[in-house]
Amino acid sequence: MLPPVLELDGVWKSYPGGVHALRGVSLSIAQGELLGIVGPSGSGKSTLLHIMGMLDRPSEGQVRIHGRDIASLADRELSALRGRTLGFVFQQFHLVEGMSATENVSTGLLYAGVPARRRRAMAVEALDRVGLADRAGHLPHQLSGGQKQRVAIARALVTRPALVLADEPTGALDSRTGEAVMALMRELHAQGTTIAIITHDRELAAALPRRVEILDGRVRRDTESPSEATA
Ligand code: ADP
Repeated sequence: MLPPVLELDGVWKSYPGGVHALRGVSLSIAQGELLGIVGPSGSGKSTLLHIMGMLDRPSEGQVRIHGRDIASLADRELSALRGRTLGFVFQQFHLVEGMSATENVSTGLLYAGVPARRRRAMAVEALDRVGLADRAGHLPHQLSGGQKQRVAIARALVTRPALVLADEPTGALDSRTGEAVMALMRELHAQGTTIAIITHDRELAAALPRRVEILDGRVRRDTESPSEATA
């Protein structure tokens, strides 16, 4: 069997002054999962996202990608691994104004050493996957909020990442558009993409196959864990 895409094992994140943003979080994400990581403001979600995204290192505990402990990697190796393995989707889309949808999506490939022509073809293919092939030449300001988020999702997908980390992906959208973006996430999941959605929205999380509830830096409940009641 394949090792999990991402594993956290007893992860703590502490800050000076005795603040513990994470207190022994263990979490394993298998290939093909769609899960929600849900918790109220201040529960540690952003900190967890940073650790899962290899943007920050734990104070204690292990982070493994495909079974490999990342502790021994230098920062540069870690960035390369991040670029190869993860795709990010943010609440505010973070598209570059003045760049077309295709160009925005291609930026996802800038560090992957893909030649320009191929980047373009891959970007168009990713836009097609999110249903935006007909908007490839549009600039961000010519797109609706939902379309912008689709472009951002295409940018996350274009490298064919092992895991997509989506941080409040519907947070800046009205509820109907948000539902359409979630429908897209489910569709991508059905096609085999592994996706973790970080959110404070319990209703949104309730519709996902797996939920991991975070409170006070701990996993309060993981619907996939056999010992969930003891968390
Ligand atoms: P959430 O994203 O769920 O709102 P965070 O991960 O941002 O939660 O924060 C969890 C806790 O850790 C909070 O009490 C926050 O104040 C604290 N915290 C987060 N980052 C830092 C930091 N850089 N320095 C000190 N405390 C921090």
